[in-house]
Amino acid sequence: MAAWLLCFRSLSCLFCASATVQHCVAAPVSGVDGKLAYAHVEKLVAFGPRPAGSPGIASSQAYITDVLKKLKLQVDYQDFLANTPNGPVSMKNIVAKTSGAEPIIILASHYDTRLMTNAAFVGANDGGSSTGLLLELARVLSRHRNRSALWLVFFDGEEAQREWSETDSLYGSRYFVEKLKTDGQAQKIKAMVLMDMVGDRDLKIENDTSSTPWLMELVRESAKELGYARHLAPVQKGMVDDHLPFIRAGIPAVDLIDYDYGFNNSLWHTPNDTLDKVSAQSLKVVGDIVVRVIEKLGRKS
Ligand SMILES: [Zn+2]
Repeated sequence: MAAWLLCFRSLSCLFCASATVQHCVAAPVSGVDGKLAYAHVEKLVAFGPRPAGSPGIASSQAYITDVLKKLKLQVDYQDFLANTPNGPVSMKNIVAKTSGAEPIIILASHYDTRLMTNAAFVGANDGGSSTGLLLELARVLSRHRNRSALWLVFFDGEEAQREWSETDSLYGSRYFVEKLKTDGQAQKIKAMVLMDMVGDRDLKIENDTSSTPWLMELVRESAKELGYARHLAPVQKGMVDDHLPFIRAGIPAVDLIDYDYGFNNSLWHTPNDTLDKVSAQSLKVVGDIVVRVIEKLGRKS
């Protein structure tokens, strides 16, 4: 029963004006279940390496689709052929849509993993964690009556095929934003909230200088209100990630990422990025923050 005793206080905080929220340190009741998010990560990792065009990513696409369709969400696909230094590679963005009014809020994650020819890289944190969390957020948010329509976007091809560069990276998000522009839909997007590498048990969300400043502040303010200030990195960093094509198109965008994975980021892009490094609690913390950010964006004109 302790959870319900906490709930009364938390519920009032979750939906009321921010003044009372400052005093709320109880466990938030966003509905996000870190263990369910973790279970999705476990499934994805079990598919093995999941670089663009691989059998592993085909299994991921089938799994993501299955989860989203069971939630009765509309699921759209963007299939495209990316020109890469390794030649053309087939890629697929997956977009799940909730009902709600425009403007639209986008939540996103990349679901591909870094191509490694000399090792089995399963990307539990990099590619897996944010995708598992986005699937759990799909469950939670498909039950909410959201003010704004939400698009949950799973990007393919975030990772470079060879060396990271302007042209060899972010294939899925660059394609998505180009399509938004050619379809005349860019101005319908209120904000884009990106998650990446959110499973580290020593979670510290970067204060990213390339994110839209007011949106980064909304994330930090939300984290503090939820009692998660300890999960905010104290120093600023500039991240290059799937939010950049949106920012370049004039769409407010923010990256929730912990780019310090293991001591001095030593686990990043190594075969040691495995499931045992991912924490269900960290997934819950980021999920709680994202739900709160969506609520605040819904109130913002
Ligand atoms: Zn990566």
